[in-house]
Amino acid sequence: MGFTRNRLKLKAKRPKAKALKSFRLSAFSFPLKETYLCAMRFDLITVLPSLLESPFAHSILKRAQKKGIAEIHVHNLRDYATNKQKSVDDYPYGGGSGMVMTIEPFARCIEKLKSERVYDEIIFMSPDGETLNQQIANQLSIQKNVIILCGHYKGIDQRIRDIFVTREISIGDYVLSGGELPAAVLVDAVVRLIPGVLSDETSALSDSFQDDLLDAPVYTRPADWNGHKVPDILLSGNTPEIEKWRFEQAVERTKTRRPDLLK
Ligand code: SAH
Repeated sequence: MGFTRNRLKLKAKRPKAKALKSFRLSAFSFPLKETYLCAMRFDLITVLPSLLESPFAHSILKRAQKKGIAEIHVHNLRDYATNKQKSVDDYPYGGGSGMVMTIEPFARCIEKLKSERVYDEIIFMSPDGETLNQQIANQLSIQKNVIILCGHYKGIDQRIRDIFVTREISIGDYVLSGGELPAAVLVDAVVRLIPGVLSDETSALSDSFQDDLLDAPVYTRPADWNGHKVPDILLSGNTPEIEKWRFEQAVERTKTRRPDLLK
């Protein structure tokens, strides 16, 4: 019996991703790793598509797309503008500073996408939305098709939010210039939870927040750097004791850094 965080009932709940993963697995009767039937599709609508090129072109997100587990499509909102100038914003009714993104181009792009497939969520990245956390990432990782709208300027016409948007997500209590970076953060947080994306699938489960615990400290070679040594236990080869140590470290770290998670 290992002393794993999953088995131990602290205040920590079951890692949600594991439940979601088995849900995904039980929905199909063959190994996901080979089939990737749960591939997830993201359609991002933006006025700055080039801003979204780099975040998805490297590392885990690149690999996920190569393996066919995640599809990320970026749509240039200007392609859906109706006027000659290809403008996607206008002055706010009632006056005031800042431009407002107009409804027409968003509506046309969303309607086109919706005519091609069914979407589970149409998400608007917005500072006044629910704050992104691991639980939201877990929930989204079992969806199939998701549209993400990136705002700019003063924001988007409220009617887009009222008519099309099903969920509004913020990445924190601060304001950025546009929804592209928040959208990239959201996609990254979700994609790494889809089974088959991480080479060691369990590693996402031991990450911070997954079970309301922060992650334990990690070390690699050299074992001794200028007298700064790696804790002996990690070199012992005693797996149950190492797991116990990691669990204790995770609890300790959570107590000191994020006691709110243990409540
Ligand atoms: N006037 C708006 C802010 C507009 S910022 C307000 O006060 O709420 C322009 C766009 O950047 C937003 O429409 C949104 O898409 C994006 N954005 C800015 N900060 C964000 C955050 N913390 N989380 C998610 N999206 C954000």
